[in-house]
Amino acid sequence: MIRKLSPVTGELIGEFPIGDQAAVDAAVARARAAFPGWSALPLMERMRRLDRLKPLFAERGEEFAKRLSEDTGKPWIEALGHELMLVPAFLDYHHKIAPKVLRRRKAYTPIFLAGKSSYLEHFPRGVIGVISPWNFPFQLAIVPIIQALTAGNTVVLKPSEVTPIAGELIREVFAEIDLPPGVVEVIQGDGRTGAALTKADVDMIFFTGSVATGRKVMAACAARPIPCELELGGKDAMIVCEDAPLERAAKGAVWGGFANAGQACVSVERLFVVESVYDRFIDMVRREVQALKIGGPEEEADIGPMIFTGQLGIVERHIREAVAAGAKALTGGARLERKGQFFGPTLLTDVTPEMSVYREETFGPVLPVIRVGDEEEAIRLANDHEYGLNASVWTRDVKRGMAIASRLECGQVTINDVISSVANPGLPFGGVKSSGIGRYHGEDGLLTFTNARGILVDRAIFDAEPTWYPYNGKYPGVVQLMKGLIRKNPVQLARGFMKLRKNSR
Ligand code: NAD
Repeated sequence: MIRKLSPVTGELIGEFPIGDQAAVDAAVARARAAFPGWSALPLMERMRRLDRLKPLFAERGEEFAKRLSEDTGKPWIEALGHELMLVPAFLDYHHKIAPKVLRRRKAYTPIFLAGKSSYLEHFPRGVIGVISPWNFPFQLAIVPIIQALTAGNTVVLKPSEVTPIAGELIREVFAEIDLPPGVVEVIQGDGRTGAALTKADVDMIFFTGSVATGRKVMAACAARPIPCELELGGKDAMIVCEDAPLERAAKGAVWGGFANAGQACVSVERLFVVESVYDRFIDMVRREVQALKIGGPEEEADIGPMIFTGQLGIVERHIREAVAAGAKALTGGARLERKGQFFGPTLLTDVTPEMSVYREETFGPVLPVIRVGDEEEAIRLANDHEYGLNASVWTRDVKRGMAIASRLECGQVTINDVISSVANPGLPFGGVKSSGIGRYHGEDGLLTFTNARGILVDRAIFDAEPTWYPYNGKYPGVVQLMKGLIRKNPVQLARGFMKLRKNSR
């Protein structure tokens, strides 16, 4: 049994079964049985049925958000704004792009296939296994589910064992909109249940979580083999240039570092500030951090507790090791002396690349600051890292910001903003290097849940193709055809074709 404890009070608030291989296989079988019916529905009909989530959220969104806050301890405003609000945005976005992205379209046909026409279409993969983490337990499950369903797949979700209430909520919202049975299956459980899903009869795994688990998931998928998308960790850089809008950058750094108590894959985890504005800027950031209110959702706080007790230990170790090596905690630095998993928001300066707080994902309310000589040094350091998920650049010169953005090794960059690119359904999301493989959100995201099918059509005017059997006597024609193609010489091409035709039966 999963014993769910409140991150705010430490009290037991629920118990949930742990699905074994047999339970997972049964859920996958139900999803497989539902696949032919769901995938055969016209795209507009699938979207129409998913659209029923909108009135449901309009009516009961606040109630759902409060249940997510109970699960995670996060402020109500974050539960509503970060977990639920993206859903209608994705549904509307799909109406705009899905008919175009998923329709059959004409494709290129080369001259040596003259007389034929080519088409490209995308079809659903089948049953998608979605494995989700605890930090945004609703959003990071429901968004890939909606993209997968829109593309015509059915889904089996394995939510995080740390946040099972969110998993139950996903089950409930899809039941409320009355999708056919088996279209969305939810199976509660821990890592063993996730591993069982990777071994079950699914056609793809969409995984969000840590690099260590991502490796195991990829290995399990390789053994089948089935495709997997990996959305993994980050150590996002924020670069504050000399001409940055400092007031905005200071507020942005604090929100980017501490929203969701720093438990976002796209949290600011390395704040690079150029020497010339460093002292003034850090003073502004410190004042912003000191103004933050910490507490549970009922207290209307800015920062809630940490969701997962295990992560608290990592945060404490990173700070302890950094301070021992010369870093300074200007604020916070320790757990709060109150019930629950609360940690003081920590502004950590004098951080250097050797420290664990710089190299490893901290995933907590810690903002590590690195002083750099200029932006070139910041770009070099930002890229010299295992992770490459998201980044931000702060400058009043947007052209310069764009030029820096294009040099950063990561999947998304914001200029004079943080994190918000994730909230745009139109932008692809995903990482490079250890931050992951594949993209969701955007047009790429919809295509992630499809296979491509190429179709070539011949109108059957001739009884045979010149390149079919017999080969006898055709070699010189092929030579001429290839030379004509390379030289783009129409006369040579025509001669090659004629020679081939002459030798055809
Ligand atoms: P985790 O890897 O511990 O767990 C993620 C999920 O995998 C859970 O549901 C877990 O039960 C399951 N799991 C565990 N072992 C498994 C196995 N052997 N096979 C299959 N599934 C298994 O990650 P977490 O601690 O829940 O989440 C935090 C991590 O997620 C951080 O590294 C964070 O950066 C990352 N994350 C990435 C994104 C992104 O979009 N790139 C978003 C949020 C979080």
